[in-house]
Amino acid sequence: MSNISVIGAGYVGLVTAACFAELGHRLTLLEIDPERLSTLERGVLPVHEPGLPELWQRHWAEGRLRVTSNYTLGLEGSEFAFVAVGTPSTTNGKPDLRWVRQAARSIADAACGPMTVVLKSTVPVGTADMVARIIARYSRSNYSLPVVSNPEFLREGLAVFDFMHPTRVVVGSDDRKAAEAVAELYEPLDSPMIMCDSRTAEMSKYASNVFLAARISFINEIALLCDECGVDVVQVAKVAGMEPRCGDGYLGAGLGWGGSCLPKDVKGLLYMAKSRRVPSPLVRSVLRINQRQPGVVVGKLKRLLGSLEGKTIGVLGLSFKANSDDMRHASSLSVIALLQEQGCQVRAYDPVAMKRAAQLLPAVTFCSDAYEVAAGSDGLILVTEWDEFKELDMRRLRSLMNDPILVDGRNFYDPEELTQAGFICEGVGRRGVGSKKAETALTSSRKEVRQPALSGASSSRNTLSQ
Ligand code: NAD
Repeated sequence: MSNISVIGAGYVGLVTAACFAELGHRLTLLEIDPERLSTLERGVLPVHEPGLPELWQRHWAEGRLRVTSNYTLGLEGSEFAFVAVGTPSTTNGKPDLRWVRQAARSIADAACGPMTVVLKSTVPVGTADMVARIIARYSRSNYSLPVVSNPEFLREGLAVFDFMHPTRVVVGSDDRKAAEAVAELYEPLDSPMIMCDSRTAEMSKYASNVFLAARISFINEIALLCDECGVDVVQVAKVAGMEPRCGDGYLGAGLGWGGSCLPKDVKGLLYMAKSRRVPSPLVRSVLRINQRQPGVVVGKLKRLLGSLEGKTIGVLGLSFKANSDDMRHASSLSVIALLQEQGCQVRAYDPVAMKRAAQLLPAVTFCSDAYEVAAGSDGLILVTEWDEFKELDMRRLRSLMNDPILVDGRNFYDPEELTQAGFICEGVGRRGVGSKKAETALTSSRKEVRQPALSGASSSRNTLSQ
């Protein structure tokens, strides 16, 4: 059993602390944000992460976990200090390392015994060396404080599982003894272990995230072509993903990637390349394609509705992905901004992210469920693929809407089923699926509006308004 400190009570820090406690260690979590700290002190977790509350409450009750903002107290007797502070992008894509530097300085000031400093935050190549320099400069003791890179690969929404079942553990340091001590902490997890230097560890994390982003941008480029050719991108991705040399993950066409990691890490890699004058046209395109996707999806809605001006649009899902309340770089933000720019009123619902979303989206009407979103809407966009949206009574949903238009921004629904439920729907790269039906429905629906007397149809709630 070791004494471990974790610096930063965000998604990564909380999960790291709870999971190391689960592995039998004694944990202290250091957090400088007073609001976050007091939330934790009340026994409440500040983030939504499945499986975390159970772990947290158990180890908290058993005294294996504690939280503080006091570095002297927090580092006392610790053998390891895991740094899990945020590293967001600045405006030019450069990762903002101020919290990493601040944590390094605080460790140097407060350390009163030998301790290994472990960098879990995603940081550009050379940051471990920088942290070692800060510690060497400000440390008040003569104790050894080696620095080890240990990038984190967990996924929000599955973070506890991912921590306990890592696909790989990367430990980077020139200090062999320190690296081995960190590797030993992960031994019970029985995962592939990569021992390397810190610069390789740092670069491997960026390369891994950019590779994921590239796969999604790739399939989104294919999706555009599928739309034009009348081919279903979902089937195309399934076939391409059966290639054993590559695998099938991250080949879902749609609104693209968001969240706290991929956007900033793609930009971070571009910044690293630019500052070293290394051309990176592929990664640049990966970013551009992703920036285009919200416009592609909103454009589909506009085409189906004829115009967006004055329309009420419902947005299903706000968080950047299902099973998370994280709104950082969520596609919903760009989609809603585009809708509002075009004169739409927006109604929205998300199972867990509405509190965070309300701080970012003041002009949106937040609803208590998907049916309330649909009531009076002229069209819907599915933005986040929450399981509960699969369970909806689609006929009831449609019956509440002014127009039965649904754009599926995640290719989440079966287009045939939506069409059967009376929707005029479109996914991304799936115009060929049920599209003939959708186009026919669209044309006849428009005719109904133009010729109500001829068709005998009144302007029913489910008739497309122009
Ligand atoms: P976060 O923003 O959710 O949390 C960071 C926390 O650190 C905040 O609570 C902040 O108040 C605290 N903090 C900042 N400076 C501090 C200091 N000097 N001392 C104590 N606390 C301090 O961040 P996150 O999403 O957990 O990500 C942390 C790092 O891990 C980032 O570099 C990120 O790229 C990386 N990462 C994140 C994920 C993810 O899914 N979120 C996955 C893998 C890697």
